[in-house]
Amino acid sequence: MKCPFCGYLDSRVIDSRQTEEGSTIRRRRECIACEKRYTTYEKLEDVPLLVVKRDGSRQLFDRSKIINGLIRAGGKQKIPLAVFEELVDSLERELRNSFTQEVTSDEIGQRVLAKLYEIDEVAYVRFASVYHKFKDINDFKEALAKMPQKRERTEKRQRAEG
Ligand SMILES: [Zn+2]
Repeated sequence: MKCPFCGYLDSRVIDSRQTEEGSTIRRRRECIACEKRYTTYEKLEDVPLLVVKRDGSRQLFDRSKIINGLIRAGGKQKIPLAVFEELVDSLERELRNSFTQEVTSDEIGQRVLAKLYEIDEVAYVRFASVYHKFKDINDFKEALAKMPQKRERTEKRQRAEG
């Protein structure tokens, strides 16, 4: 965003608000050079979403990359592509609704895992093993340890209901 007063390209976002129809974000910005404030309106799909990788480098949010990872993890589970696309759609919606312009690859991984867990447990474990790059079996066990908890909750609920 170019400052309308001095033309400087860098600004600080003071406030972000979604407009009522939800397709536009209104941002209050302060120019870093002249410190004057101005408002911008950005179409949601125009706002770049950046992924900060573990080495600190940044790249544009790339849904096809995530979908490829999901296909690799869930390929043998015969999960329809549409399911993965829906997963990534809802992920992207969440991220954009949170007004963040930068998200770490770790957070994306965690969110994908949480969603995948609801869909398919085998694909979840496979994706988790790639994502966490398990150093040893204990790492893997740790990830697995999260899974029975859900089953317990379900059983408890069933006991309560039955
Ligand atoms: Zn300025």
